[in-house]
Amino acid sequence: MNTIYVDNNATTRVAPEVLEAMLPYFSDLYGNPSSMHTFGGKVGYKIKEARAKIAELIGAMPEEIVFTSCGTESDSTAIWATLESYPDKRHVVTTRVEHPAIKNLGEHLSKNGYRVTFVPVDRQGSLDLDYLYNSLSDDTAIVSIMWANNESGVIYPVEEISQEIKQRGIVFHTDAVQAVGKIPVDVKSTGIDFLSISGHKFHGPKGVGVLYVRKGTKFSSFMIGGHQEHGRRGGTENVASIIGLGKAAELAAQRLSVYGAKVRSLRDKLEEEILARIPNAMINGNRDNRLPNTTSISFEYVEGESILLMLDEFGICASSGSACTSGSLEPSHVLRAMGVPFTAAHGSIRFSLSSYNTEEEIDFIIAKLPPIIERLREMSPFWHEAAVAK
Ligand code: PLP
Repeated sequence: MNTIYVDNNATTRVAPEVLEAMLPYFSDLYGNPSSMHTFGGKVGYKIKEARAKIAELIGAMPEEIVFTSCGTESDSTAIWATLESYPDKRHVVTTRVEHPAIKNLGEHLSKNGYRVTFVPVDRQGSLDLDYLYNSLSDDTAIVSIMWANNESGVIYPVEEISQEIKQRGIVFHTDAVQAVGKIPVDVKSTGIDFLSISGHKFHGPKGVGVLYVRKGTKFSSFMIGGHQEHGRRGGTENVASIIGLGKAAELAAQRLSVYGAKVRSLRDKLEEEILARIPNAMINGNRDNRLPNTTSISFEYVEGESILLMLDEFGICASSGSACTSGSLEPSHVLRAMGVPFTAAHGSIRFSLSSYNTEEEIDFIIAKLPPIIERLREMSPFWHEAAVAK
């Protein structure tokens, strides 16, 4: 059975070119980039190249790039570094739809002496900007708003918001983990002070990320140790992964427009056919303002996990809009924040495509999904109750 992988917001395959670029650093080129000898220096030079490629992808300067271990570390570093730099400020602003890397950190801070505002979104997943701006005060240390949502794909206007926040003298961070490599991201003419990236979301390896730190932004190191990353993140570099990430950035820059057009047309076909063939199905999130590769679809009166298991029998890998909380399945905080009705949120599936997907794969999903939903609804008391009520 072939694997049809449509779960690319969870992780992506490492591009063959990326793997090829990484391999020598596991064998022949094992020097420490900090060493004084030429053998280590060659590796140091390659890291410099990778830094330049990442910088180019997001319109930054190489010295503004700090390599980390993942998107989560980048997010945490931005928030903690700012709170440490502004010890008198005790207020943090974020949204109700962030990834747990920010959401759970926000909840942790609110239990530990900070005031945290979680800005709501509407049914389309769009942010309440008045709520955001009205929440700001002299006590606000940092505003953290994701560039694009990992579940709905909704894109947030972080370029405009960051300008407004900057004018008020507040630090602005964006979690761009789902945006980089999928849509154009350019920090140059924005007010963004910190931006998080994760390698494994755009065909780089797992275990490597980036924190962009705008020149002049106050920073205090989260990982104190050696002089690596100009003292901003101690620890011997994850050399092979950093070089892989650099290659992934180079490929993303070359392929961005082709990627967008291709995955959008596959995603749109998938959505249109599903909506045409399956009753009581709905798309979650603003359809005009989403990542080109993502769709979150709710099928009323069925459970997302059952759909996933049945798709899995055909080798189709997607993910659901639920999270296992204390042994029971709860609709995700993102869908709840968007006010998706309970009967629909429970039956939500996220398909997230990559440029490796083909039209044949999309046709296969379109052929397999309708009978799965029909079979599950036949077994669902809620579906029958709803039919009687009509
Ligand atoms: N932020 C967003 C929006 C994500 O989607 C993810 C991963 O799914 C992360 C942060 C965490 O990234 P990592 O897995 O590299 O820690």
